[in-house]
Amino acid sequence: MSLLSVRDAAQVYTTRRGLFGGRVDVRAVDGVSFDVAPGQTLGIVGESGCGKSTTGRLALGLERPSEGSVTFDGQAMPAPGTADWRAMRAKMQLVFQDPLGAMDRRLTIARQIEEPLEIHGIGDKAERAARVAALLVDVGLRADHGLRHPHELSGGQRQRAVLARALATNPSLLVCDEPVSALDVSIQAQVVNMLTDLQAARGIAMVFISHDLKVVRQVSHQVAVMYLGRIVEQGDPDALFADPAHPYTRALVSAIPVPGPRRLERIVLAGDPPNPADRPTGCAFHPRCPVAIARCRTDTPALRHSPCGRMVACHLVDTETRIAA
Ligand code: SF4
Repeated sequence: MSLLSVRDAAQVYTTRRGLFGGRVDVRAVDGVSFDVAPGQTLGIVGESGCGKSTTGRLALGLERPSEGSVTFDGQAMPAPGTADWRAMRAKMQLVFQDPLGAMDRRLTIARQIEEPLEIHGIGDKAERAARVAALLVDVGLRADHGLRHPHELSGGQRQRAVLARALATNPSLLVCDEPVSALDVSIQAQVVNMLTDLQAARGIAMVFISHDLKVVRQVSHQVAVMYLGRIVEQGDPDALFADPAHPYTRALVSAIPVPGPRRLERIVLAGDPPNPADRPTGCAFHPRCPVAIARCRTDTPALRHSPCGRMVACHLVDTETRIAA
């Protein structure tokens, strides 16, 4: 059973081409579909600008998709800002990359954790104080951390406090957007372990957005790889990282630092991702793809089930050519 269901979601922004150019539609997200079951994590990976954060915002109902639909707990996502949406938001929370930016520097940590309880009318003053104290313990902070202000905590402690606030309303879905990218590697591991422990204990579903494939592999039950607004490969993380099928996924996986001899030779992609306002024809990856064929310049590959057991959007996925990529 799916808790979050996204179907054919597209998000189109209208922008200007250059200073004096005409208006152009940018498809930041284009035809994205996925399901997340209770207690499960979907990891979304891809380079900056691939549409993963916009996908997270659509999943939370912070933006309404231009096309397609988002369903949470069997209900269509209400329009942002409405009373129905606010009620639903208590069950869905966002964890940001930058904990300092996500917090109010003037308020104590305890006050900030209490705030969502107050907003959603949960408990009286004493009950809320007890809940804040329990949440601080759950995320590995001490009671005296609650009396401090955000700048008086370390980066890891701040991210724990942000997580405590996100958990305050007992959500069934967390959307974590680069939640550990700003932390030192040693602290990252601690916060990720705490996050997965809390998720397992509470049965929370997660959408975990990151450019860090190692972290995504560690936390995810399913992984979606995005390129220029579309999912190009989706499936089981162990199989995907062991034998990536899409040439873009192969390049990303080949860049993961590994101790000892490398199984997959490093693939360095030429150039940067194209401007979404100037999307290449056919397969959007073709200008950078090391195994592109003529057809790739004209035909857009559909995301479909492939013999490797995952969903892949590549004309060559059924052929031997991908092996050599
Ligand atoms: Fe490369 Fe063509 Fe596959 Fe796109 S469809 S990833 S360009 S081989």
